[in-house]
Order: sequence, then C-alpha cells, then structure tokens
Amino acid sequence: MTTLLPNFLGGRWHSGPGAGTPLFDPVLGDELVRVDATGLDLATGFDFARNTGGAALRALTYRERGALLAAVGEVLQKHRDAYYAIATANSGTVKNDSAVDIDGGLYTLGVYAKLGATLGDRRHLIDGDAARLAKDPLFQSQHVLVPTRGLALFINAFNFPSWGLWEKAAPALLSGVPVVVKPATATAWLTQQMVQDVVDAGVLPPGALSVVCGSAAGLLDALQPFDVLSFTGSADTAAVIRSHPAVAQRSVRVNIEADSLNSAWLLPGEAPGSEAFDLLAKEVAREMTVKSGQKCTAIRRVLVPQDMYGPMAEAISARLRKTTVGNPRNDSVRMGALVNRAQLAAVRDGLAHLLAQAETLHDGATHALVDADPAVACCFGPTLLGARDPDAADRVHDCEVFGPVATLLPYRDSAHALQLIRRGQGSLVASVAGSDPAALAAAALELADSHGRVHVLSPDVAALHTGHGNVMPQSLHGGPGRAGGGEELGGARALNFYHRRSAVQASTAVLAGL
Ligand code: NAP
Repeated sequence: MTTLLPNFLGGRWHSGPGAGTPLFDPVLGDELVRVDATGLDLATGFDFARNTGGAALRALTYRERGALLAAVGEVLQKHRDAYYAIATANSGTVKNDSAVDIDGGLYTLGVYAKLGATLGDRRHLIDGDAARLAKDPLFQSQHVLVPTRGLALFINAFNFPSWGLWEKAAPALLSGVPVVVKPATATAWLTQQMVQDVVDAGVLPPGALSVVCGSAAGLLDALQPFDVLSFTGSADTAAVIRSHPAVAQRSVRVNIEADSLNSAWLLPGEAPGSEAFDLLAKEVAREMTVKSGQKCTAIRRVLVPQDMYGPMAEAISARLRKTTVGNPRNDSVRMGALVNRAQLAAVRDGLAHLLAQAETLHDGATHALVDADPAVACCFGPTLLGARDPDAADRVHDCEVFGPVATLLPYRDSAHALQLIRRGQGSLVASVAGSDPAALAAAALELADSHGRVHVLSPDVAALHTGHGNVMPQSLHGGPGRAGGGEELGGARALNFYHRRSAVQASTAVLAGL
C-alpha cells in the first residue's frame, strides 16, 4: 500500500485509522499516496488552534507576523523542486502550469510579508477617521479592526493545492489568525507536504497552521462563532456550506469562491490582425490551455463583433493547433492532463451539453497525445466552440466546463455584448481588448458591477500585462452572484475578513490611546 499522509492537528501528527482514499497520477494512472481524516478529535484540535496558535499570533505585531510569512516562504523555497515533482505526478501539469500554483503561492506570501513590514509594530488597525457624536468634539466614535479570536478554516479546490493555501493563509496569519486547511482530496499531497515542511522547520508558533486531508465530514460542525470559513469549489458544495448551522445559526463568517463563466470581449472597430485583436486571441488560447483550463478564472466565453466571428475562430484555432498535449514529463508537451477520471468525465459531459447549442470550431480530439496512453491518461485536447446565435445558447452562459473549452459568441453592438456577458450572472474576471483608452475605460466601468476584476488588454501593455487568469495579490479576487460573492486578496483589503470591526465611542483623550 502507498504512504498514508498524516494530518497535523492539535500540535501533533495523526495518521487516520482507515485504509484511506488513494490519490492518483492522472497521466500514468499510478496510485501515489493515501489520505484519511477519520478519527480526528476536531473539537480539541480546533481549540488548540484557537487558544494556543491564535494567542501566540495575536501577541505578535504585524511586522513580526510579516517576518513569519517571509520565513515560511524561505522554507518552501528550499523544497521547491520536490513540490514541482509532486505537481507533475499528482496534478499532471507541465512545469509552467505548476509554477502558477507553486511560485504563485510563494509570490503571494512575499507580498503579504512586505505588507506586514509596512503595517509596523502594532496589533490592531485603525479604520477611518474619528467621527464626532455630539456638537462638542470631545465625544467621538473611532472604528478599530482587531483580529478575530477564532480560527480560519479553508476548504479548498483541487486545482490550486499550493496557491489556494497560501493566498488565504498569508492574510490570515498576518492578521493574527491560525489556519486549518482542508485541501481537496484529489491533490491534497502538495498542500500536506508544504504544511509538513513548514511545521518541521518550526518557523510558526504551535497551533498556527494545521492540515486535515480527506473527507470534510465534521469540520463545519466544529466551527464556533468567531471562526471564519473560506471555501473555494463548486457552486453545489457552496450551497451546502451556506445552509450549514455553523453559518446559518452560529454566524461563522464565510467567504465563497465558486464557479464562473468568465468573458473576454473584443471591442468594436478592431480589424483582424490589429494588435488588440491578436492580444485577445493570444489570451484566449493561453487561458484555455494553462492548467488544461482548470482555473476558476479561465476564459469561457469570447465575445467578438459579428464580422469578427470567422477571423477570430481562425486566429484562436491556429494557436490551439500548436498546443501539444500529453505527458508533462515530455519537454515537447505544452498542456498536461485534467486532474482525474472524474474531471475527464465531467468535461466530456459538459462539452456534450454545450454542443447541443454550439458548433465545434477547433476539435480537441484532433490532438494526438504525446507519451501518454489515451486509455489511461486524463488528457483532453483544447476545444473551441462557437454559438452563432448567442441569445438562444443559454447553456453557454450557464454551464462552466472546467477544462480546456471556450465558446466564441458574435455580438451586434456593445449593448448586446454587455447583455450577453451579464448572462453569466456575476463572474470573477472579464477581459476587454481594444485600442481606444476612453472606450476601454468606459467598458471597464460597465463590467465592474458584475466582475471582481476587469483586465484591460491594450497595445501599450501588450508586453507588460499580468494575464487575464493570473490572480495578483494586489488585486481583488472573487466575484458577485454566481461567482460566490466572495472577496479575497486586494492587498490590505484581504485582512478585513480576518479582523472584527468595532466602534469605540469615547472621549478624544481615550481615543488617542488606541
Ligand atoms: P468541490 O467538489 O466543491 O470541492 C471543493 C472542496 O470542498 C473540496 O475540498 C471538497 O473535498 C470539499 N467538499 C466536498 N463536499 C463537501 C461538503 N459537503 N462540505 C464541505 N466541504 C466539502 O469543487 P472541486 O470540484 O474540487 O473544484 C472545482 C470547482 O471549483 C470549479 O467549479 C471551479 O470553478 C471552482 N473553483 C473556484 C475558484 C475561485 O477562486 N472562485 C478557484 C478554484 C476552483 P473533497 O475533495 O474531499 O471532496
């Protein structure tokens, strides 16, 4: 039997008593490791995190906690090669795609480590200015932000076992809040290994970081009112979480990042081959293929003026044709595998669902797999669909195929494009491409109410822009409506989730002591 990964809770390692659930190599089909979260004393473990980990973190200043994040980053950096090996084996990703997860996590840690230094030697934050409560300025109200005295539970999705942990843990630990992470079972190995390395290095106070690998059963039951819960995953699981008594009755603060029908919009007036046209085509092809399209931020709907439907179909397809698909260990391969057989089946089903209302513009089945057995490997060629009547194609606006699949949609005018984009009912990110700064700015504002982030592609930033799907810690991540209604990152804004806001009403002399 393969290794059973131990859980770390209550300041010590526990191996589950059962045989565990196996994790597989999605390209070779081999079993890699096992996980088992049964038999854990969650109540005691969570108390240890809250009382021991939380107290130790809260005793530190933001600057000191920032230094802890930097120390965590140094530990992870030392083991980076091992993380790449785990990602290749368990996520089936090529090196560049593993980097989005592993180095993306390290970068995010670094940004929050620096933020800690700028917040300085204090243990709470002042929120806004004091406001007079009476004619006499002597009695005023001052809002403060203090770390919550609970723990932060992260229930994460399979696609970012590294970044998904650190993009949340960095602001939590910086805020003084201990972390318990439950990675998605399919790719739990990388998360577990990273936590193990950090624990072994002894750089964090006991109880500050714990990991539970396996089923989520019982985790929400163990939450208390001052805990916070951050969930990333499907809308179906999100609905279960929202209705759990921990959230519905005990008011556990919850942040949800769910699925999203992200768009890319080419503004009117761009000829085929113009810089903006090419920027969009390149971005769509990249977003479809990075991590085999298993990114919550990936472009799913591509909107172009009606007369650009044919030229854009050809431009994107030309790029997709060059994508070699197969075993990520082969240097000629650009796109690896989906995460497991279940995802492969889900992508096939989703594609069939969309095809009832769409045509195939580039068929992923034309990609012969390199160094991989099609009967075993969970590889899926990039597939571009098109819906000539986008108003009637309701499935395209509703069904997220979590793989290398996107649909091209022709629009009549900008009002029509916006109407179609809004049928996604709130998304994480939209890209808009064009060359007129005023038109791009106006489009960005039109998109802002329904998107957590708007990525603008113009020729002047062709070589500079950070990519539609790359989540930068400086920018907000999350989206309204269907995207879950959550907010993460956004620089210092991320700390709000882990702090409690309180209004202190007092004399000016007292407020001076805050
Ligand atoms: P999922 O099935 O919802 O699983 C997500 C997490 O929830 C996993 O850790 C899973 O554990 C856990 N879980 C399952 N049932 C649960 C329950 N009843 N109570 C509590 N936790 C439970 O989602 P997925 O298939 O892993 O992820 C793909 C989806 O995530 C896509 O739809 C994608 O759009 C979305 N996503 C969104 C973002 C974002 O930032 N918005 C980022 C990445 C992915 P097990 O693995 O052990 O079942």
